[in-house]
Amino acid sequence: MALLEVKDLRTWFPVKVGLFRSKTYYVKAVDGVSFTIDCGETLAVVGESGCGKTTLGRTVLRLIKPTSGRIIFDGVDITDLPEKKLKWFRRRAQIIFQDPYSSLSPVHPIRYILEEPLIVHGIGDKRERLERVCKVLEKVKLTPPEDFLGKYPHMLSGGQRQRVAIARALILEPEFIVADEPVSMLDASVRVEILMLLRELQERENIAFLYITHDMATAKYFAHRVAVMYAGKIVELGPFLDVVKNPQHPYTCALMEAIPDPDPRNRFSERKVIPGEPPSLINPPPGCRFHPRCPYANDRCKREEPPVVEIAPSHYVKCWLYVKR
Ligand code: SF4
Repeated sequence: MALLEVKDLRTWFPVKVGLFRSKTYYVKAVDGVSFTIDCGETLAVVGESGCGKTTLGRTVLRLIKPTSGRIIFDGVDITDLPEKKLKWFRRRAQIIFQDPYSSLSPVHPIRYILEEPLIVHGIGDKRERLERVCKVLEKVKLTPPEDFLGKYPHMLSGGQRQRVAIARALILEPEFIVADEPVSMLDASVRVEILMLLRELQERENIAFLYITHDMATAKYFAHRVAVMYAGKIVELGPFLDVVKNPQHPYTCALMEAIPDPDPRNRFSERKVIPGEPPSLINPPPGCRFHPRCPYANDRCKREEPPVVEIAPSHYVKCWLYVKR
């Protein structure tokens, strides 16, 4: 059984427009998304900014209420559970935010930042909590822990702050973590260190990750599978190496072409994607959302939404090109 199962998830935000705000439109940030994540597995969600991947991450953690669809965690349907019945889930599922500068309280020392979740969940006495805080600092390689307990976030480097943010996510020993662009605001020199740390933690602690990124190149460090998202929908999903070496959806091909590769044989698409912006997520037009930029688009693509097709074991593509006529 999968640890997390997401079925046909939609997260739409209403926007009132017009004179007297009489009309309601919906920003369809996540629009019919389905996937599963097993224990100890990393699914990378890759897409350009504004495609809905952060909203997806927050919705599966129930930080945002979904509009429709189901979220099932360890066999329990948490989609409609009220907050007071989610305490067990809050302990088992955590998030690492993109910005290590704003995700940590500037007015508390590291010891309190890490101890607070334990206090909220009524775990241990003062001595046991301190032991756990020291242990988690060691796990994220902030050693010796005593040197960090009394420090405030502003006294640390960006990489050290993100390690504290990871420690905070780990302190409750979760089984599932949403890592939302955890390295995008860090210097290139510390990015790989943090990604290697996440991989090490995943392997040692058997934690499942939903790794959200706009950069396919960073997913290679610890993603088992990848879901490519475009304008609120997953357009390709499959084992990481299959998707990277043999991308099938025209948008995935364009993403792969954007990664510098000196080998001219590694061209994934014969035709170039038409330059332009993704469609507005406010009442997007029917059909395939990629059709205005797709070099293979035909009339059907403009009219009807493509179905999801399994083109190889566990490799799915949402495109009319793969539908047998
Ligand atoms: Fe291109 Fe049509 Fe496939 Fe969309 S469904 S990606 S427009 S070929």
